[in-house]
Amino acid sequence: MSAPHNQPDKQPHNQPLNQPDSLWRALAAASPDASAALGTPLTRDLDVEVAVIGAGYSGLAAAYALQKRGVECVVLDANPVGWGASGRNGGVVSSKFRLSFPAIHALHGLDTAKRMHRLAHDGVRVVESLVDEFGLERARFEHTGSLRCAHTERAFASIRAEADWVRTTLGDTSMTVQSRDEVTRETGSTGFVGGVLSADAGTILPLEYVRGLARGIARRGVPIHESTPVLEMRRAPGDTRVTLRTPDGTVRAKQVIVATNAYSDLTPATSPYQRELVPFRSAMIATERLPAELDARLMVERRSYTETRRMMKWFRKVDGRMLFGGRDAFGKEGQTTGFDALQRAMIALFPELADLRVAYRWSGYVGMTFNSLPHVGRSDDATTFCLGYNGAGVAMASLLGQHAAALALGETPELSLLAAPGLRPVPFHSLRAPGVRLVAAWYQFLDAVGA
Ligand SMILES: Cc1cc2nc3c(=O)[nH]c(=O)nc-3n(C[C@H](O)[C@H](O)[C@H](O)COP(=O)(O)OP(=O)(O)OC[C@H]3O[C@@H](n4cnc5c(N)ncnc54)[C@H](O)[C@@H]3O)c2cc1C
Repeated sequence: MSAPHNQPDKQPHNQPLNQPDSLWRALAAASPDASAALGTPLTRDLDVEVAVIGAGYSGLAAAYALQKRGVECVVLDANPVGWGASGRNGGVVSSKFRLSFPAIHALHGLDTAKRMHRLAHDGVRVVESLVDEFGLERARFEHTGSLRCAHTERAFASIRAEADWVRTTLGDTSMTVQSRDEVTRETGSTGFVGGVLSADAGTILPLEYVRGLARGIARRGVPIHESTPVLEMRRAPGDTRVTLRTPDGTVRAKQVIVATNAYSDLTPATSPYQRELVPFRSAMIATERLPAELDARLMVERRSYTETRRMMKWFRKVDGRMLFGGRDAFGKEGQTTGFDALQRAMIALFPELADLRVAYRWSGYVGMTFNSLPHVGRSDDATTFCLGYNGAGVAMASLLGQHAAALALGETPELSLLAAPGLRPVPFHSLRAPGVRLVAAWYQFLDAVGA
């Protein structure tokens, strides 16, 4: 029934892989420059103002912000552009944090809630403008909104209260409540009791987006070096520059931006940044094309859809296929764990899909943080980092990459609660894998009993 999942999620730094065998890779294969490398490995020594490590949304957005200010920079990635989460994700462009705005208000007050709300929506504006500036039609960004579907009456009451609060307190009218019938009509599933539509959200083809960004900044003269893992970062006493060692060349830079997120442990040079995070394996499946009758009936508004279970699933329709994702793919790299469970969850919501073949399945790591918010800050006077998007990084990494560039240049962008005073390793980090499994099992239990 299912396609093989034979690509490990991470690999030794000296054996770069192509993108995982995903729907995104298949769709990108139709592009005229599909097989073109977007950068060459570094084979000489360079001196630059700023070196950016990581060629996902964070790193490329940072590099573009630097290029626009006329600052000389270079992007280094151990793998091809977008090989990390940026080329694997669900392509949901959202204007929210994992921590809700009422929760932010309760914890930090109204002024902070307003600033965080602005930052969340700024993320979507940044995606729109990057798509526009680089002419990324192939990324198919659609501002169609995102519908959060409630799996119980209790969950429905909670998301309704949140939408009311956002409207009355923040004056944001982009969130509207949908009845059970409306959600059923729109999704084609009877599994939900109602929902809340966030209009300021959309969908994108994630791999086309990240490759388009790379093409755009390369055209503007920023060198991108793929297959170039940073093996060591050091600064001799008294030296104002940091030296980055890669297999066949070094980069000396006044400032370094670490944009390696949940893949930071690829080499010891960046692995301290992994200790800021609890990496969570997240999986996706895509079916074969839906029969015409189902295609006309399911997800007719072409939005993205999430649900209110703690172990949330999300879905959208792409290329006439159902794309279904979830965050409970436990197990180690390359294991098939989770895909069958995902298919069962999809069929529970959409029984008509029971006989449909799963054509693609792949997974990647999201970087969760202890406070459920992204972190951007400086780890010393020459190094800036941005990470921890908690599974919602398409828009936020595009924004925070730009803010990381500003920080590296000594500017003071508005970061509100996202400003990190330095690296703050997750306590008991070595216990994170069993910890994640324990918490996830507890959440699955609560979801199963409808609590
Ligand atoms: C399955 C899945 C589904 C998701 N769905 C969504 C979604 O629908 N919507 C949403 O908003 N977010 C989603 N996310 C999260 C989103 O993809 C990420 O938050 C975002 O892509 C992070 O981008 P990034 O540039 O920070 O990191 P990445 O894209 O992960 O890039 C990090 C890069 O750093 C490189 N690297 C690491 N270490 C080194 C080193 N030492 N030297 C050189 N290079 C190095 C890696 O090769 C990698 O290319 C999902 C994530 C996954 C995995």
